[in-house]
Amino acid sequence: MNSFAASRSTAEWKAIDTAHHLHPFTDHKSLAAEGGSRIITRAEGVWLWDSEGRQLIDGMAGLWCVNVGYGRKELADVAHEQMLELPFYNNFFKTTTPAAVELSKKLAEITPEGLNHVFYANSGSEANDTIVRMVRHYWDLKGQHRKKAIIGRNYGYHGSTMVAVSLCGMGAMHRQADLPFPGFHHVMAPYWYDYGGDLEPEAFGKLAAKAIEDRIKELGADSVAAVIAEPIQGAGGVIIPPASYFPELQRICKQYDVLLIADEVICGFGRTGEWFGSDLFGIKPDLMTLAKGITSGYLPLSAVMVGDKVAETLIEQGGEFYHGFTYSGHPVACAVALANIRIMEREGLVDRTRTDIGPYFQDRLREAFADHPIVGEVRGVGLIAAIELVDDKKTRRRFPNYGEVGALCRNHSFANDLVMRATRDAMVLSPPLVISRDEVDELVRRAKVAIDATARDLG
Ligand code: PLP
Repeated sequence: MNSFAASRSTAEWKAIDTAHHLHPFTDHKSLAAEGGSRIITRAEGVWLWDSEGRQLIDGMAGLWCVNVGYGRKELADVAHEQMLELPFYNNFFKTTTPAAVELSKKLAEITPEGLNHVFYANSGSEANDTIVRMVRHYWDLKGQHRKKAIIGRNYGYHGSTMVAVSLCGMGAMHRQADLPFPGFHHVMAPYWYDYGGDLEPEAFGKLAAKAIEDRIKELGADSVAAVIAEPIQGAGGVIIPPASYFPELQRICKQYDVLLIADEVICGFGRTGEWFGSDLFGIKPDLMTLAKGITSGYLPLSAVMVGDKVAETLIEQGGEFYHGFTYSGHPVACAVALANIRIMEREGLVDRTRTDIGPYFQDRLREAFADHPIVGEVRGVGLIAAIELVDDKKTRRRFPNYGEVGALCRNHSFANDLVMRATRDAMVLSPPLVISRDEVDELVRRAKVAIDATARDLG
């Protein structure tokens, strides 16, 4: 039995981890000063257990990914069977596997119309790198050799490889690696709470879309290849665009012959109550990035959905595409993805998120925080939400040292056995889609305890 649970004491694990393990997005000096990492040893449904036996609600579905919840034996069984039958074979050089074929068909069926081809990778970052290569190749094939620039938005998150970071609109990430690469541009996010001022959200949505049009004009349409956008900017703070934003952005992309890439790594697979965020906002993307919820995080897998226009050109004129990963379309990951989608369909998890548990979650959050002295806004849809902590609700004024209050609140939340993440001073939530009403009540209760404690600390 491959169980680590009783193999060492917590103190031993912490010591070894501190000695040898460099974690993603972690300040190791401060981690060591705090005595080392929290160690998660098992999980079930929406619940996590740590090595000291504490039970936490996972308000983040891992990293926005465990959509069908933890402990699905069906997914473990499918992985086991696939490993016994065919643990690995590659999709290079005119070969494939049944699992990759079946998943490709399924993805073409459930994604928005016109996205009928799939290229597999292992992470959202790799999928976005793949898209940049595809887009550049596509415009070369079209004879538009100058069309190479890509426009993203501030606070956009698209991954951690060098190209994916270049797509991101995250200044701190750029500064650590002399990025972005040339040809990657960023404009204002459709973040009404921060930038909307006195404008109504709908007027602001158009203004934010116009920022992209202005940048296209500035760069010259003949040099802009694509715009990349998460339907809802997740890691950037659950930034939900006004309804006017995407129709206008879609119009702009069409007018200037610029491809539109929807990064659905967080929004995809039911998070918003639709299968994809593009369905929610009526976006018709040329390319789409999928990861996370595609396997509910049970195994690493990502995919690029390629629209007919781009696919036709790449297939008919592109020759061999010199790109791929050893594990592109890994058969075990593909089998698990198919079984994961089957669970979502069988249990109606997307409909449930749209019509039942999503609205319930949103209502409870809004009720709990409507009159809270440090909550400026609760926003969200389906099972994704943000609670903005502010110094002054009326004027939407931020706390001094923007970000510190969010970190304080996140610590209170952990201490109160709820995993709630902070993006600057926005507390973000994205629980598994299987969460029950009672569990929503408990999650909201714990979030309120954490935010009350934060308010008390601030005096
Ligand atoms: N795109 C979006 C929208 C994401 O939220 C993330 C990760 O959080 C990524 C891409 C990168 O995915 P990965 O961490 O699998 O490389």
